[in-house]
Amino acid sequence: MRKETIAVHAGYDGDPTTGAVAVPIFQTVAYEFESADHAAALFNLEADGFRYSRIANPTSAVLERRVTELEGGVGGVCVSSGQAALNYAIANLADHGGNIVSTPQLYGTTHTLFSFVLARQGINVRFAASDRPADIAALIDDDTRCVFCESVGNPAGNICDIAAFATVAHQRGVPLVVDNTVATPILLRPFDHGADIVVHSLTKYLGGHGTTMGGLIVDSGRFPWAEHPKRFPMFSQPDRSYHGLVYTERFGPRAYIERCRSVYLRTTGAVLSPLSAFLILQGVETIAVRMERHVENGRRVAEFLKADPRVDWVRYAGFADSPYHALTQKYLGGKATPLFTFGVKGGLEAGKALYDSLRLIKRLVNIGDAKSLACHPASTTHRQMSEADLRAAGVSPEMIRLSIGIENAGDIIEDLDQALAVAVPQAERAPALSAIA
Ligand SMILES: *Cc1c(COP(=O)(O)O)cnc(C)c1O
Repeated sequence: MRKETIAVHAGYDGDPTTGAVAVPIFQTVAYEFESADHAAALFNLEADGFRYSRIANPTSAVLERRVTELEGGVGGVCVSSGQAALNYAIANLADHGGNIVSTPQLYGTTHTLFSFVLARQGINVRFAASDRPADIAALIDDDTRCVFCESVGNPAGNICDIAAFATVAHQRGVPLVVDNTVATPILLRPFDHGADIVVHSLTKYLGGHGTTMGGLIVDSGRFPWAEHPKRFPMFSQPDRSYHGLVYTERFGPRAYIERCRSVYLRTTGAVLSPLSAFLILQGVETIAVRMERHVENGRRVAEFLKADPRVDWVRYAGFADSPYHALTQKYLGGKATPLFTFGVKGGLEAGKALYDSLRLIKRLVNIGDAKSLACHPASTTHRQMSEADLRAAGVSPEMIRLSIGIENAGDIIEDLDQALAVAVPQAERAPALSAIA
């Protein structure tokens, strides 16, 4: 079944391929058992079903299945935010004494989670010198529990060579974890290129309307945990916290994701509300159509900015002179994401003046909304980082990040044009504004 159809079949859990009858969805905290034996089978994880909403919920389960299907995985777990998804995805692999190897270009809060929160738990995060596969490979050792990257970095806009990362990780018996929030499974499926685990902020394009927080972890089912019992004893050795359960034996290819639910979601409880799952499912219904418009509008706005003499630089992977142009062709089918950055001439002060003059484009820190959004990373999302870390993450002081929405492209361009006129008052305007708009 094609992505557009998978995405639209939301709200009920009927199987669109067979026409199987749909299960009605409602909200409750706990679920009735048929008998004591039925309850015992559920608690032993021997029967599929629902017990208590902290562990699993039928509405959230529809969302889990829908995005798992879009990504081509074997199972997913919804959580309350993208950050909770990242925390659980890593916690399920690494504990005290382990390390993870990451690209330096990361979402700001993920950088903070890795550098400070995980570090205090004894998990050492090694940031590679760049997103080149050789720089990743150089840091992997016997204590490495995963390689991590964002398929398309937020806000740097870099595109990772996922197939090459998977090769260097798998050569050392290590899984590749990919945050696929910016690309979305509509533009890119990391599992098709060898990734093992995918993480999403559902808050962004999948929800798509800037109303609802959510996160999700998806398992490809392909990493051979049982072949690496020293690195990953938790999957193939008895779990004392769950009366000796062996995840690889009980769940086969779903060992990773079921442990994530049974250990981390069950005991630490960053649960997605089922009402939020319902709202995000409505976004998922239209994501395939929205992404087409996001991508096309992004291209038109990037071309306008590039042609404008008031603009110093535009970092857009769709341009032939972008260092990521070839990877855009390989991984995104040439469809550069509508999340990109630019710098106005005049440095920090002109950048702030432009930012303050926007009318249609909203000044806020979110991405993937139907509405166009702008953010100034140096004063917001990346504020906690040192100047050296900012540079490594690809963030400069004047940089503005745009998340281009699905409005009329001419209206978005007109807003940028009037804001540029305020920021750089003496300069000429774009020669080709009317032709582009
Ligand atoms: C927003 C974002 C996150 C965090 O997601 P929340 O839902 O805000 O917690 C993680 N990674 C990337 C790439 C993001 O854009």
